Amino acid sequence: MKITGVNTYLVRPRWCFVEIETDDGLTGWGEPVVEGKASTVRACVEEMKEYLLGNDPMRIEDIWTTLYRAGFYRGGPVLMSAIAGIDQALWDIKGKFYGAPVYELMGGRCRDKMKVYSWIGGDRPSDVARDALEKKEKGFSAIKMNATEELQMIDSYEKIDAVLERVAAIREAAGKYFGIAIDFHGRVHKPMAKVLAKKLEEFDPMFIEEPVLCDNMESFRDVANACNIPIATGERLFSRWDFKRLLETGYVDIIQPDLSHAGGITEVKKIAAMAEAYDVALAPHCPLGPIALASCLQVDATSYNAFIQEQSIGIHYNTGASVLDYVNNREDFVFAGGFVNLPKLPGIGVEVNKELVLEESRHPHTWKNPVWRHQDGSIAEW
Ligand SMILES: [Mg+2]
Repeated sequence: MKITGVNTYLVRPRWCFVEIETDDGLTGWGEPVVEGKASTVRACVEEMKEYLLGNDPMRIEDIWTTLYRAGFYRGGPVLMSAIAGIDQALWDIKGKFYGAPVYELMGGRCRDKMKVYSWIGGDRPSDVARDALEKKEKGFSAIKMNATEELQMIDSYEKIDAVLERVAAIREAAGKYFGIAIDFHGRVHKPMAKVLAKKLEEFDPMFIEEPVLCDNMESFRDVANACNIPIATGERLFSRWDFKRLLETGYVDIIQPDLSHAGGITEVKKIAAMAEAYDVALAPHCPLGPIALASCLQVDATSYNAFIQEQSIGIHYNTGASVLDYVNNREDFVFAGGFVNLPKLPGIGVEVNKELVLEESRHPHTWKNPVWRHQDGSIAEW
């Protein structure tokens, strides 16, 4: 088999899809994207095209290694997200060739279904207790919310109290054992992260996420020492080598590699195995589209340490189009009792609604991250 075509499409709300065609008629889909830099990643995939055309799509490991190592420069969000989408599409082709879901080609599933959680509250959380209750009534046993809005390096305890009030309201509404994940979103700096983490302890959160940015990896020690809450992070790390440094700190409990950012299925499967050897859990990051989600589920299916999956159906970012709009086999993505079934179709598990993809790509989105500023006019982390 040979790769004969590589097509890229920008689709709303903020994604990029790649379609890899072969000379025997099989087609694979991937989702190479960095949120806010979709056109940049698309250009990167286009640039990688000449390493793909004429190559055997079954040699995923060799193609991955070519794209990673032969380019001399490596790593980072743009290059690794381009590789990630290509890698997903190649696994999709391989699965379709063998007539099996990707997880069957990676050792088979080690669980029957995957626990999922839902986002509540948006960028500027309010009325989260009502939202959490609504999710609980839909069968979810866990939610995630943003902790704070803008928070300066040293900031008012009024903002800390506002977080605590929201979390308390959720705990009260949803009950003692409902899973509450609290995303600091890299908005919080070390001095306030320690304070906030310690105060959140009384609410028994499922985990806190990105309490500080991975740029400040050494500070996880201080956060971990300040509280008794599992610490999650990793959506802004992109390779085994990035995660090696994180795991070596010894202070992180859950890693969150993104299947569309960290080199795809091939790489995240390896990252997951490295984490398992450190007794660290896996909860892949996925505020993205259906191909990214299905890729996550393929890795979750075969990773012992995977315990919960993020998904973006109904997330605040999705305006204009949503995850399932691009999926013809929507019945495979029904959530029941807080779980989703593992993908069933050969390949990644998504039958893509190509008509909508073509329609969307005729007027490509230009989604950008918002620019936030503090009261004094200085830039705030979003
Ligand atoms: Mg996050």
